[in-house]
Amino acid sequence: MQPNPGLPVRRLTQQDLLHLACPVCHASLQLEGSAILCTGCSRRYPVVDGLPVLLSGSAH
Ligand SMILES: [Zn+2]
Repeated sequence: MQPNPGLPVRRLTQQDLLHLACPVCHASLQLEGSAILCTGCSRRYPVVDGLPVLLSGSAH
């Protein structure tokens, strides 16, 4: 599959995270590498295709 050249690849920025909060503790989030780190409970959330996946369900 070839990506559409007319569409820029969406990259998550710290700016995007200003509108988001941790679903578990509602603290603010920060980018850490290619993942998202909660500043409250230190949970890590993956970023899939430029979109944050904030799921509290899967406990490891
Ligand atoms: Zn949290």
